[in-house]
Amino acid sequence: MIRLESLELFAELVGQSRRIALTTHMNPDGDALGSEFGLIAFLAGAGRDVTLINHDPTPETLRFFIDAGHPVQTYSPERHDSILRDADLIVLVDNSAPDRLGSMEPIMVSLANRTLCIDHHPAREMPWRHQIVDERACATSLIVWELLRHVGHDIAPGTAEALYVGLATDTGFFRFNSTSPRAHEIAADLLRRGVRPARVFQEIHERNSEAFTRLLGHALADLRIEAGGQLASVRLTAGLLQRLAAEDEDTSEITNALLAIERVQVALLFRELGDGRVKVSLRSKAGVDVHRLASEFGGGGHRNASGIVAQGSLDEVGHRVTVRVLEALSVDPRAASPPTPPAGG
Ligand code: 5GP
Ligand code: MN
Repeated sequence: MIRLESLELFAELVGQSRRIALTTHMNPDGDALGSEFGLIAFLAGAGRDVTLINHDPTPETLRFFIDAGHPVQTYSPERHDSILRDADLIVLVDNSAPDRLGSMEPIMVSLANRTLCIDHHPAREMPWRHQIVDERACATSLIVWELLRHVGHDIAPGTAEALYVGLATDTGFFRFNSTSPRAHEIAADLLRRGVRPARVFQEIHERNSEAFTRLLGHALADLRIEAGGQLASVRLTAGLLQRLAAEDEDTSEITNALLAIERVQVALLFRELGDGRVKVSLRSKAGVDVHRLASEFGGGGHRNASGIVAQGSLDEVGHRVTVRVLEALSVDPRAASPPTPPAGG
């Protein structure tokens, strides 16, 4: 449950503000967009002038619940810095880390004294003046539901669907360790308000391209199993991602498939970004804290789902992260397969 002070803080800040800007982390996911669209009907209905500015466009799979009356603007400094500066309140959802704001970081940090952060990630030091952060919440959308109910907002079907998307995607459709009784109680309320779970699941997970399914096949055929079966990993080269034109597809199905192997405790997915960096997705079963591991590499996330963006080649980053995971699993890191020597030239 959200603390009473937090509920009151939200009501007070919205009460004082006329112009409100909403934003979230780079590459917005279901919970990020669900939280934004969860808030928007209430804010607009209360006569606030609301602008939605995200660093990246909305992924195809998440467009189905976006309210057409409130277009998401993709950030550009020329167009949006003045809007952000003129806002009385900036609401940052599903993110508290400045470095996950990408090119919005400088303007956002400069406006931190007017920013309300609503988030459920383990809090590090953060510059935001107002904070409603609850790391026990399994989704930011759950916090948003509590806030809306506190101010007495009657959640309409469209808003309910947005919040359900956030709640469902961040809990892996109610199966991750983080899934709480509260998540089911709130889901029940959202269903009563008209949400159809089958439609939501279909829109998000049953619209893969043929290319993506082939990618999945390639990736899974190449999986590596280490640490006596406890670690499963997959490496996707930029070439493979590009050839299959599947760069923006949701790769959670790969990590899910790895983690579904019986004795696997940790699943790692390495994606070559093609600019000298590698994106690592870390997933674990209950026992292992991948958030701690990700933090060591400047990444973050949650205990059982985290991410890192690291400088280096696929082999280097793959090796560095794998060695640390093996240590965490108390396996001799010399067991890690060494990086392949760089190709000549
Ligand atoms: P994914 O592997 O799905 O991209 O990310 C899993 C979780 O890890 C996300 O929900 C997010 O909380 C976190 N995460 C992913 N990438 C990064 C990153 O580069 N930095 C930080 N701090 N967190 C990340
Ligand atoms: Mn979230």
